[in-house]
Amino acid sequence: MENLPVDDVLHRFLLEHAGVRGAVVRLGPAWREVAGRADYPPAVRAVLGEALAASALLTGNIKLDGALSVELKSSGALRLLFAECTDHGRLRGLARWNEPLPEPLVLKALPDAGMAITIGNVERGQRYQGLVDLQHAGVADALENYFIQSEQLPARILLAANDEYAVGLMLQKMPDEGGHHAAKDDDAWSRVVHLTATLGVEELLATAPEQLLYRLYHEESVRLFEPRPLAFGCSCSRERVTGMLRSLGRDEVEAALAARGDEIEVICEFCAQRYHFDRIDAELLLSAHAAPIAPDTTQ
Ligand SMILES: [Zn+2]
Repeated sequence: MENLPVDDVLHRFLLEHAGVRGAVVRLGPAWREVAGRADYPPAVRAVLGEALAASALLTGNIKLDGALSVELKSSGALRLLFAECTDHGRLRGLARWNEPLPEPLVLKALPDAGMAITIGNVERGQRYQGLVDLQHAGVADALENYFIQSEQLPARILLAANDEYAVGLMLQKMPDEGGHHAAKDDDAWSRVVHLTATLGVEELLATAPEQLLYRLYHEESVRLFEPRPLAFGCSCSRERVTGMLRSLGRDEVEAALAARGDEIEVICEFCAQRYHFDRIDAELLLSAHAAPIAPDTTQ
């Protein structure tokens, strides 16, 4: 077998005879980079890892121009959960929480919780947002239900994260085509779901993608596509921070200048990049013609 990358990679595959498509993602260094940027309690780190794996997994079977993000906000213990994967395979994510954390951390129990998947190109203002029904305990259940409802096709999503790895497996029944018999397809889907159910969380976390697919589906014919490399990366830029400052307006920019001796420092929450603006920069950005402001989570 050729040497395929094991970590920080997305593999798409097809179970040809079963009419099932899927993707498997395994994040190692990229996940540790994201997880190491804050002192996350284990329960928060687990859902962040799951969301990060999901953001990569969900790019598997769509034509992506821009980025796909999974975001959750609530007024409860998990205030914010954000994970993003771009069309170039760059991943970033963060979470914000309040102590004490409930044990276990159940998404549907969070007050005023809202979860959304956003797909699109921020620079061009082309965005699609789908709201995820949060009547489920975990990220995987919620996203699985979202796919079943939005695409009207059966789906399975498994996600898991520990200190070292964030991993995910997604299966989707392919739409019926001419010549297929629905009953036979249902049997095949049930068979694949049954095989997938034999997979434990520990095995999912510990097994390299190709081995995992072989172990689960060796009796199906697995067609593996070219793996997509993934890496930690941030899409922040001076231009986007400038746009964010401009959208705050003069009063807030003046207040920020005054607070730090005629200088503004903006630190990206995702990658810790520092952006500095002196009074001249601030005057320039405030006097420039208002450009369309791209929404950004940079603060
Ligand atoms: Zn950044």
